[in-house]
Amino acid sequence: MRDVVVVGGSIAALTAVETLRMEDFDGRITVLSDEDLPPYTRVPLSKGVLAGRETADDVVLAPLSAEVDLHLRTPATGLDTDNRVVLTPAGPVPYDGLVIATGARARRIGTPNQAERVLRSYDDGLRLRDHLGRASSVLIVGGGFLGMEIASTARALGRDVTVVDLAPPLDRLLGTTVGGHVRSVAEQAGVRFVLTHGGVRLLGAPFPTAVETADGRRLEADLIVSAVGDVPNVEWLAGSGLPVAGGVLVDERCRVSPHVVAAGDVAVFTTGDGGLTRIPSWTNAVEQARCAAKALLHGDDALAYRPSRYAWTEQFGLDVKMVGPADPQGEPAVLDGSLDAGSALLAWPDAGAPRTVVAVNHHTPPAKLKRLLRPAAVAAA
Ligand SMILES: Cc1cc2nc3c(=O)[nH]c(=O)nc-3n(C[C@H](O)[C@H](O)[C@H](O)COP(=O)(O)OP(=O)(O)OC[C@H]3O[C@@H](n4cnc5c(N)ncnc54)[C@H](O)[C@@H]3O)c2cc1C
Repeated sequence: MRDVVVVGGSIAALTAVETLRMEDFDGRITVLSDEDLPPYTRVPLSKGVLAGRETADDVVLAPLSAEVDLHLRTPATGLDTDNRVVLTPAGPVPYDGLVIATGARARRIGTPNQAERVLRSYDDGLRLRDHLGRASSVLIVGGGFLGMEIASTARALGRDVTVVDLAPPLDRLLGTTVGGHVRSVAEQAGVRFVLTHGGVRLLGAPFPTAVETADGRRLEADLIVSAVGDVPNVEWLAGSGLPVAGGVLVDERCRVSPHVVAAGDVAVFTTGDGGLTRIPSWTNAVEQARCAAKALLHGDDALAYRPSRYAWTEQFGLDVKMVGPADPQGEPAVLDGSLDAGSALLAWPDAGAPRTVVAVNHHTPPAKLKRLLRPAAVAAA
């Protein structure tokens, strides 16, 4: 293999490139990114960037080596797998091996004439910061990690903040015990939560200034932000013949088809019970990209993908780290500390071994959290 093309300009793309070189691939690597900025981390966008503490200089990741051809502002618009070329407005780019790392974009719930605010890119972050600077009230639709982080930053900036969701925010991710704890800390900080059974409709165009809940309540704010999930960027693969089902379908080694692998928020894989899943998170993007790059070079000799399922969020002065599947059920065992005391290490046992471990303001490093998923940790606790 002499020519590898990586499509995407973020952490999965960057990690795939680094891994190819670490595996001694000395052919040509071309990276096609539709962004203006070189690869950067999105993690601070809802935190330091939104708060005005961080700029592009703080978020751009370590540069790609000089032996990599990085093409910014170059979207892939199509893929011809028969002739092995990626189509771009600047012309076709041939490949022997292809890494798909086009990630996802913010999901929108407004009508086509509504321009609700979202946060996905650095430019979104600058725009939202600007709007936040002029708003006194903010309504955030969606109380997942992203929505709650935006709420936290907006509240710290003194804005009046309401979060509206279909279910108690964060319960679906962190379980009811930790979810309830984070919500109560957020409420003490002044955030209002509104639950609606049946979604919301945005009111006002082009910039919505109110939402109507399914049960007829009208909630107004200077600024409406949608944080309702993401949509994988797969449109450019239409007609390519590659399997696409809510993302690019990859096998246990992140392979899509001969010569093509995919990684990160764009990739969907089959779970043990035969279902399809996507893990849109930083760690998953890194881990899948390493696996994908090795599979591209070594085929069946590469190790199969094993997600560590590590995720984290920072909000309302809480540093929450988590390993294991989201949505843990039932009451956790307390391994150390207590939520009431402000620092806790919690585990949800499953057949003796912890299935999910969550640390709240607890100084357990991620590597140790991952080790805690081993059965011996329960006996030691
Ligand atoms: C505000 C925010 C905060 C976050 N905080 C956390 C956190 O605290 N912890 C955590 O684990 N995760 C967090 N995440 C999620 C994490 O950032 C993503 O899971 C991660 O960025 C996924 O990386 P990726 O490379 O797969 O995709 P993306 O980051 O989506 O990158 C895809 C890249 O491909 C480019 N692209 C798309 N289509 C094309 C095309 N056709 N041609 C060329 N280029 C294309 C895009 O512009 C982009 O550069 C956060 C996300 C956001 C938005």
